Amino acid sequence: MPQRDNGHVMLLGDAAWCLNLYSGMGATAGPHGGAELGHALQNHPDDVLAAMATRETRLRPFITRRQRITRLKQQLFVPSGPAAEGLRSALTTTGASVPSRWYRTARSG
Ligand SMILES: Cc1cc2nc3c(=O)[nH]c(=O)nc-3n(C[C@H](O)[C@H](O)[C@H](O)COP(=O)(O)OP(=O)(O)OC[C@H]3O[C@@H](n4cnc5c(N)ncnc54)[C@H](O)[C@@H]3O)c2cc1C
Repeated sequence: MPQRDNGHVMLLGDAAWCLNLYSGMGATAGPHGGAELGHALQNHPDDVLAAMATRETRLRPFITRRQRITRLKQQLFVPSGPAAEGLRSALTTTGASVPSRWYRTARSG
């Protein structure tokens, strides 16, 4: 969304930016957004609009970065096609074999 408040109502958490389960960050981003609003209101006690704008400016880069990363991480959960599925399969197979190789080496030596 280009804007998450209208001067009277401000959206927070999933309602504002929906870092869904693939992000693994939704539960962090919600309180983070609330904390940023608290700081902004402390710095602009007599100007709610300025506080809302400050919060938005400070928060947007953090949220945008997480939203972009989420699109990538989503491919691990729900691949969008055969290429993504192949890559996921290769990654999970390699990832799964590393600990067992390490375990065998540790036990034998
Ligand atoms: C399956 C799953 C796994 C997840 N795993 C992770 C994870 O590992 N790590 C992580 O960080 N995040 C994870 N998330 C995301 C995380 O749960 C959310 O981002 C986070 O809970 C959002 O918090 P919120 O307070 O913004 O919204 P919510 O937790 O959705 O809270 C909104 C509240 O508003 C209430 N409500 C809705 N409509 C009304 C109404 N009209 N009147 C009054 N109340 C209303 C709802 O009942 C709800 O209690 C996961 C999400 C899912 C679904």
